[in-house]
Amino acid sequence: MPRNFGGARHERVTDQTPLPEPNAPAQPPPPGAPTATAKAAAGAIDATKIYGRGENEVRALDGVSVTFEHTKYTAIMGPSGSGKSTLMHCLAGLDSLTSGAVFIGDTYLAKLNDKQLTELRRTAVGFIFQAYNLVPTLTAEENIRLPLMLGGTDGDRAWFDEVVGTVGLTDRLKHRPSELSGGQQQRVAVARALNARPDIVFADEPTGNLDSRSGAEVLDFMRRAVREYGQTIVMVTHDPVAAAYADRVVFLNDGRIVDEMLDPTADTVLDRLKRFD
Ligand code: ADP
Repeated sequence: MPRNFGGARHERVTDQTPLPEPNAPAQPPPPGAPTATAKAAAGAIDATKIYGRGENEVRALDGVSVTFEHTKYTAIMGPSGSGKSTLMHCLAGLDSLTSGAVFIGDTYLAKLNDKQLTELRRTAVGFIFQAYNLVPTLTAEENIRLPLMLGGTDGDRAWFDEVVGTVGLTDRLKHRPSELSGGQQQRVAVARALNARPDIVFADEPTGNLDSRSGAEVLDFMRRAVREYGQTIVMVTHDPVAAAYADRVVFLNDGRIVDEMLDPTADTVLDRLKRFD
């Protein structure tokens, strides 16, 4: 579904009851339990999103509570219209909830004003979209550096070289997007997301426009970013092959989380999806 990212509305959630700290454990651990708990990179608490009113009301998210662990690769799957994009856009601060809360790290997005939200998106969040979203007049290198340059920094040259080398773009840096294949353009977009070392990367159907070989390269690199560099990635996909690169799959249906799977394979994911029919 086409989205107007620039024009997302940011209604504020009105807090009637105080929210728990984003990473607070639900209850004290039992005696003898390990005290170190995995901190969530992002998550949603009873997230509800309603579009339209009256007869036209659509409950795109219906009380979703989920956390996304640091340094993990999570895929969000479900039938078309199940709320995948809405959940990701709300988590990333590109859209706002009707009720409930979303957080990134220790920050509830609803508590930020527009300026703070923009700053959080710029510094803590990386995006990879199906349509690459590269600036056509800039070279690959300039596109990769753009988010940091907008923040007034050059970033770490060694890290830039590492990221560019790993995605195999070293000899393509002076090319503009129109001189690159779809797979290369998406690798530029992945490098751009990772170069800023965000706390979390949100990827929306990142291989939707790619042939299977280019898609596999992009997915493989995203997985390596998680395993080797400790990146956290949340990816919406409808493709079981893409989901099999993730550590965990969360399944949505009718705006609710209905299942999840660890260490997925394309076959186990496909089997689970068939049960939605
Ligand atoms: P998915 O990504 O799983 O295909 P979406 O999150 O795009 O699902 O949509 C979930 C539901 O919300 C669908 O019924 C969709 O039609 C509806 N929806 C999404 N965006 C809007 C919008 N801007 N206005 C009205 N309804 C919307």
